[in-house]
Amino acid sequence: MQLPREVIVGNATLERVSEITQRLGFSRSALIVAGSKTYETAGKTVKALLEKERLEVNTLLVESATIKDVANVQEKIRVLKPQVVFGVGGGTKIDVAKVSSARQEVPFISVPTTASHDGIASPSSSIKGFEKPYSVMAQAPIAIIADTNVIMRAPWRFATSGCADVIAKITAVKDWRLAHEEKREYYGEYAASLALMSAKLVMENAELIKPESEEGLRILIEALISCGVSMSIAGSSRPCSGSEHLFGHALDLVKPNHGMHGEKCGVGTIMMAYLHKMNWRRVRDTLKMLGAPTTAKELGLKKGEIIKALELATTIRPERYTILSKIKLNRENCEKIARITEVI
Ligand SMILES: [Zn+2]
Repeated sequence: MQLPREVIVGNATLERVSEITQRLGFSRSALIVAGSKTYETAGKTVKALLEKERLEVNTLLVESATIKDVANVQEKIRVLKPQVVFGVGGGTKIDVAKVSSARQEVPFISVPTTASHDGIASPSSSIKGFEKPYSVMAQAPIAIIADTNVIMRAPWRFATSGCADVIAKITAVKDWRLAHEEKREYYGEYAASLALMSAKLVMENAELIKPESEEGLRILIEALISCGVSMSIAGSSRPCSGSEHLFGHALDLVKPNHGMHGEKCGVGTIMMAYLHKMNWRRVRDTLKMLGAPTTAKELGLKKGEIIKALELATTIRPERYTILSKIKLNRENCEKIARITEVI
């Protein structure tokens, strides 16, 4: 079990970066992986603060999360031999920093600039060009520094997407239980409860989670971090990724580079909750209240694309037993489910 040793969430927490870095024993060198925008919003502050403490700090800007980006960062780590790698940014930058540092066996610190998905704290990451269209295990961050002051400045859509990624855990955990009951798959009560509790917290506090509300954003960030930790405890993405994520990954294949991860999984959660005979209307209404998409139209997709993704979802990860493995859907069923839940 690999868990973060320091988790700092709150206003102006970025200022504590050198204190945390030193406490973890990194006093000589660091590499910052950021995007050009996230370097401006947070990366350069991290660099300045670390340099003040006389650390040798190098920066590498990346704009995507492809195999090539990972190879570039790995090469940089090999040459510079930093004691620690910082991933400063939203999903892609953190993913690249996480995978490349893991491969070079260097610890990694996560500095999220958005709260768009649970990758900010999880041990897994998704890289374009890997053989699998879903996330793979890399390493858990040794520390997470989530400055609400920085994250508040990101467009609100990132946060609603993050909320949807957390709500997705209600079907993910249900699928995990199902796999345990029907296939005797390992099921960790503690990891499952942690993921489920995060989803409940976000659902119960949906009214609080709105633009300009630091309190609401904090609830979301803590929920995302708990989800990440639940994956570390489980040793897999099981507590956080079930049939709704398979649907989301299928949409990535049906229409690449379109929409946000959490948004797609949120819509998937509505339909998978229906298949699980759960209260899917509550899922939909909560997503609506948060301002997250609940229909094909709001996702900017055609009806046919939703149906195609539902059909494709079962083939994405055959070894992951979910409700989609139990109820084998044909095209007609897929269309029916999407219609009943008013996704199309
Ligand atoms: Zn997710």
